[in-house]
Amino acid sequence: SEQTHYIGRFAPSPTGPLHLGSLCTAVASYLDARANQGKWLLRIENMDPPREQVGADQLIIEALQCHDLNWDGDILWQSTRHDAYQSALQTLLDQQQAFYCSCSRRQLADQQGIHLGDCIAKLDKNDAAVRLRAPATNSIWQDRLQGEIHLDASTIGDVVLKRRDGLYAYQLAVVVDDIFQGVTHVVRGIDLLESTPPQQWLFEHLGAAAPSYLHLPILVTPEGDKLSKQGHAPAIDNHSPEQNLRQVLGYLGQAPAPAGASCREILDWGIAHWDSGKITRSTKITV
Ligand code: GLU
Repeated sequence: SEQTHYIGRFAPSPTGPLHLGSLCTAVASYLDARANQGKWLLRIENMDPPREQVGADQLIIEALQCHDLNWDGDILWQSTRHDAYQSALQTLLDQQQAFYCSCSRRQLADQQGIHLGDCIAKLDKNDAAVRLRAPATNSIWQDRLQGEIHLDASTIGDVVLKRRDGLYAYQLAVVVDDIFQGVTHVVRGIDLLESTPPQQWLFEHLGAAAPSYLHLPILVTPEGDKLSKQGHAPAIDNHSPEQNLRQVLGYLGQAPAPAGASCREILDWGIAHWDSGKITRSTKITV
């Protein structure tokens, strides 16, 4: 018999503790997965040590546990995945979908982010980034919440896959791991909307089906600033997990859980009543 096949994930970068915005993403991806009888995986995206905060990974894990947000299987740590990233990179280089580049950000900006090819001849590969060649076509896809999205490839440009300093870039790591983990549904913040086209190109080049996407509005302060780990949004308070879950369900437009419910009961209520269509389609929610 035909079964709904759903593998979702929460993929935080350990750049700081979980805050209300990242809890909202975690809860939405969790509820959407569980309401679809799906798996929900946890991946710690720790491939960029200079941006990370020591101990943030454990704080994120503890906060998820404290809110009863239980993931399936083992945590995947991106720090253990370098061989897989290098092998995918080699595939893309062999296909000439990726290329070495030593242009500065400034030089690329002057040419709409698209590489013109003049740095290649004089290149030292050990002192160059590897970029993904953007196709000439525009990207159009159906976002599960935001509807049909049109993005012009020239606004995206040739994104970095491996940095000049040798670190693998988010765009490459996220796709290699979504393929490795069999992810079918991505639920994440709309601040990553412009990352979706290059990720879809990468899925195609690497011979895998792209997942479906649901891009959530992001939480902003009354001044309009994004709640972010790097922006020093306050860590969520693990002493009031029920209250945090209620607050987040409210931001997500979901029905309020009965009074006095535990975290487990609030989440089970959330799963039973989950309706992603009730989430506001605007790009921001003011907290
Ligand atoms: N690691 C990314 C972040 O914390 C999210 C990646 C994703 O969901 O695609 O912003």
